[in-house]
Amino acid sequence: MAEANGQFEQIGGVDYWLKMVKCQDACPVHTDACGYVTAIAEGRDEEAYRIARATNPFASICGRVCGAPCETNCRRADLDTPVSIRALKRFVTTQFGPETGDSSHYLKGANQKMLPPNRGDFERVAVVGAGVAGMTVAHDLAWLGYKVTVFEAYSSPGGMLTVGVPVFRLPREVVMSEIDAILSLGVELKCNQKLGRDFTIASLREQGFKSIFLGIGLQKGRKLDLPGADLDGVFDGMDFLRAFNEGKPLPVGRKIIVIGGGNVAYDVARSAVRPVDAAESDTSAEDIHRGETTAYDVARSAMRMSGEREVKVVCLEGRHEMPADEIEVVEGSEEGLKLYNSRGPREIVGKDGKVTGLRVVECSSVFDANRRFNPVFNEDNVEVIEADTVIFSIGQTSDLAFLKPEDGIESNRGLIKVDPETFQTTAPDVFACGDIALGPKLFIHAIRSAQLAARSMHDFLRGTHTIETVKSSWEPASYTMRENWDQLVRIHPPTVAAKERASSLVVIEDTFPAEEARSQAARCLRCNVDTIFDTGICVACTGCVDVCPEDLIKLTSVIDLVKTDDGRDWLAGQLAIPPTEVDKLDKDQLEALGGVMLKDELTCIRCGMCAARCPSHAITMQRFVYQRECVTLPGHHPKLNYGGGPA
Ligand SMILES: Cc1cc2nc3c(=O)[nH]c(=O)nc-3n(C[C@H](O)[C@H](O)[C@H](O)COP(=O)(O)OP(=O)(O)OC[C@H]3O[C@@H](n4cnc5c(N)ncnc54)[C@H](O)[C@@H]3O)c2cc1C
Repeated sequence: MAEANGQFEQIGGVDYWLKMVKCQDACPVHTDACGYVTAIAEGRDEEAYRIARATNPFASICGRVCGAPCETNCRRADLDTPVSIRALKRFVTTQFGPETGDSSHYLKGANQKMLPPNRGDFERVAVVGAGVAGMTVAHDLAWLGYKVTVFEAYSSPGGMLTVGVPVFRLPREVVMSEIDAILSLGVELKCNQKLGRDFTIASLREQGFKSIFLGIGLQKGRKLDLPGADLDGVFDGMDFLRAFNEGKPLPVGRKIIVIGGGNVAYDVARSAVRPVDAAESDTSAEDIHRGETTAYDVARSAMRMSGEREVKVVCLEGRHEMPADEIEVVEGSEEGLKLYNSRGPREIVGKDGKVTGLRVVECSSVFDANRRFNPVFNEDNVEVIEADTVIFSIGQTSDLAFLKPEDGIESNRGLIKVDPETFQTTAPDVFACGDIALGPKLFIHAIRSAQLAARSMHDFLRGTHTIETVKSSWEPASYTMRENWDQLVRIHPPTVAAKERASSLVVIEDTFPAEEARSQAARCLRCNVDTIFDTGICVACTGCVDVCPEDLIKLTSVIDLVKTDDGRDWLAGQLAIPPTEVDKLDKDQLEALGGVMLKDELTCIRCGMCAARCPSHAITMQRFVYQRECVTLPGHHPKLNYGGGPA
């Protein structure tokens, strides 16, 4: 906020204020995290659910397993630790999401303004792959009036939600309830239908599907081309997880090495440490997928097997360079995982065709001076780590064997080539997004890209151009921060004790109790509220400067201001002259411009003490309110290739 010569100016336009709400800005689908966290703090849980669900068809899933870029960007982290935004979302999705058995809040909660307004009774479209990308496209297109058929290779939908994320992190009934809610919009789902095996792109076109979406993800695990990689006892992490989540674990041994230091490697290792023995379990894979049980109880076999299995995680990175989330590493070690940092695998050692160990060398550095991946090894420091099983978990790759030259769909390094804005492939009627176009990312990236792809498919079929607009306004914000808000520490949601979780498939994280949720939510710094200065009635008493606990409001003269580059540039903008002309202003001219009030918006904690102190009510706390909205323009989208219409 700045004032010069009695003129009030709000720095930046809408973009500036959008970026101020860092959690919302960082969320790919722009969920109003600040809005739902505040609602939870004030006990308005149903409203909080509506806000969390508005732009996200997988709000319940995200409440449990989102990678949470909102938390990475939460401004409270500058003060101490970020607000537990993801876990707070779960607090309301468990009360109002479709997993309650009632999908009415889910269906009512969809923000229709984020969908193009031109709706109708439209043609058939095909979606290949029932992961989050495919199901999000199905959700949006069904709402627009298309007849959507989803073709899924696997026996049940969900993609990585079903076969990747371990059952002890995400109950399958939550997955199925959100997918069932999407199917209730009239979406047809055909499982056990694999593109390339059961049908082709050409056959979809022949069947009359006017546009085709490919959301097939990255299903295969990567392996290193090491000597011994074909020995008995070497597995691929994705095959391992798929089998584990089906309740039909692969025949791994008792001394397991997982190669990799990312979150997926931790999903593999933490699954491997759990004593799953499907032969002794009464619950079938089908039961798990339909969510008939939260996690099939293997306590009996667990008791017999606990302590017998040793799982080691071997990775190139040092402990604090590991790409896995800290919580995974900490909880993994509590469950008994042994970590071998700074080791590069050289050979899988074997005897009689079976794995007996992994030869590793010391990795002295992983990244070069430019932070590029460029590992350096110390070949003098070699050791063999004993093992009877080695599981690779170093990344995922695609299976694009189904692509035929006549399909017209090009790929590049294992990913389908798309326009980054429209997600149209090189075949005009075919669109693709999620991991198969972006590479391995988070669920929330797949969801956002799918919303944009669905919009593009609609524009392609209707010959229109949909744009996203932002409407914003300021509203008075009457609120007080909770007493001792600055003393409230971040608390992790309740978690099952390490011994119990390592010996069963129980879901490890629980929902915050209500009282805890309210106090965790009260930690929010409310970045959507700002101090608005009415310079017309300011008496320049500097009371606000004195009272500010962060010492971030300053009253300064224009003469001092122009001594900094930012200040000089700001004044140049105000006077609509080049910065070099500001340098030519003499002391008298600068003095005549008066004083300026400077406030550091990034450090401001929105405590409102300046507003309370102001004797002339020149300072008020106001909420920045905005609404994104889709508007459909007539005429073709300039970035889409209409190619004479669909094939
Ligand atoms: C083990 C693991 C754990 C993860 N955990 C998290 C997490 O906790 N949080 C997070 O934010 N992200 C996580 N991710 C990343 C996230 O899973 C992906 O970004 C996301 O699943 C991508 O969605 P998608 O729809 O593009 O692909 P997928 O989820 O892979 O779905 C693709 C679907 O297409 C189907 N399919 C493939 N080929 C064909 C074909 N030829 N014909 C028909 N159907 C086909 C597949 O069976 C699958 O159902 C994890 C990834 C992995 C591998």
